[in-house]
Amino acid sequence: MAGVHLIERLWSLKFVTGLRCRECGREYPAAAQHACEFCFGPLEVAYDYDAIAAEVSPRRIAAGPPSLWRYSALLPDADGERVDIGAGMTRLRRAPRLGAELGLSHLWIKNDGGNPTHSFKDRVVSVALSAARSFGYEVAACASTGNLANSVAAHASAAGMASIVFIPSDLERGKVAATTVYDGTVISVDGSYDDVNRLCAELSASRQWAFVNVNVRPYYAEGSKTIAFEIAEQLGWRAPDAVVIPVASGSLLTKTHKGFGELHRVGLLADEPQVAIHGAQAQGCSPIAQAFEAGSDDVLPVKPQTIAKSLAIGNPADGYYALKDARATGGRIASVPEDSVAEGMRLLARTEGIFTETAGGVTIAALERLVREGAITPDQETVAFITGVGLKTLEALEAVSTTHLRHASVEAVDEALSGAHFGSADLPSRAGA
Ligand SMILES: *Cc1c(COP(=O)(O)O)cnc(C)c1O
Ligand SMILES: [Zn+2]
Repeated sequence: MAGVHLIERLWSLKFVTGLRCRECGREYPAAAQHACEFCFGPLEVAYDYDAIAAEVSPRRIAAGPPSLWRYSALLPDADGERVDIGAGMTRLRRAPRLGAELGLSHLWIKNDGGNPTHSFKDRVVSVALSAARSFGYEVAACASTGNLANSVAAHASAAGMASIVFIPSDLERGKVAATTVYDGTVISVDGSYDDVNRLCAELSASRQWAFVNVNVRPYYAEGSKTIAFEIAEQLGWRAPDAVVIPVASGSLLTKTHKGFGELHRVGLLADEPQVAIHGAQAQGCSPIAQAFEAGSDDVLPVKPQTIAKSLAIGNPADGYYALKDARATGGRIASVPEDSVAEGMRLLARTEGIFTETAGGVTIAALERLVREGAITPDQETVAFITGVGLKTLEALEAVSTTHLRHASVEAVDEALSGAHFGSADLPSRAGA
């Protein structure tokens, strides 16, 4: 498949020494390949960390672009081929009101809803398509639970590539509309994400398409590390004590862990980071949380039935490694009841003014549970990952309550609000003063 012309371009990935099997350690040249030919283990991008350490510094990073490409030294960077529509450098905000409600004194929200297509998936797609372009691909594809489709279609359009995205046919309207607008090809399949993913794995064997989460998955996964890089930079080159991450395939969780470790490896974090890595799943699709609770290493596939459709992966590719990372760091993979998801969305909105999608509701509900059960203690500096915006999952909030007026008059307002209290809203009017 990879012709001479593709191979030739590989070496332009700065600091990347190749791909390495997570299981047996075998090395491969950096190409569009995701599984080890000997043991079928997943391949990861390998770097020359000593060379990176000699090049990176907080000052150089700060002088870089206001996107995840400021960390290019720690990414498969195809320099001239970057597909950059501004993913990354999202806000890290203190969340004092939510913290007070939950009993945490140092709570932060990393709000990845601020990305170009409003979810963290822009991180992985920007990196995956940059690599894909450097390999010579002209078509971007993916299997998606919704947000990935948005992001692939948008990045492909901006890069002048064609896109073909595959989604389960029961996705939220907002996610489908936000994908079709980019004018790529959207194929909706009657079946679960896991069916869609299997189809894409089959297609990737016979098509010259860059499936961002199949054949170029090693590069895709690297994009997730940048959320850890940003948190550390935004905290003044420190790591937090704990993070809470919504989990679908487990890739974001495992790469966040890898990201903090790499910062130490290249000297950007002086102390070895001790971040408890917690994962969050909704009960209706919680295969990793179930294995965690059972004390097992085996993630048994489930048939997803959850309101959190962006997390509805029943057979998670990185489930085993997510379990390992949580356990190794003193974290947990927690599941939350389905009806707590919308509650979590509302709680975040009403305390911090942030409207997140269902995946963020899962994070907040899990955070609440982890604090209640003592897995996160009150003075731990904690970062909750908010990975997407609420406008794409309006369905989750069926009951919308507004105060309705028949006439646009002050009297109608007084009548409608009679008895309600608005603090200092009853200030004397200027005219009367
Ligand atoms: C895809 C997704 C996740 C989780 O991603 P994985 O890396 O597959 O675990 C979390 N939140 C949102 C909003 C997503 O779209
Ligand atoms: Zn192997």
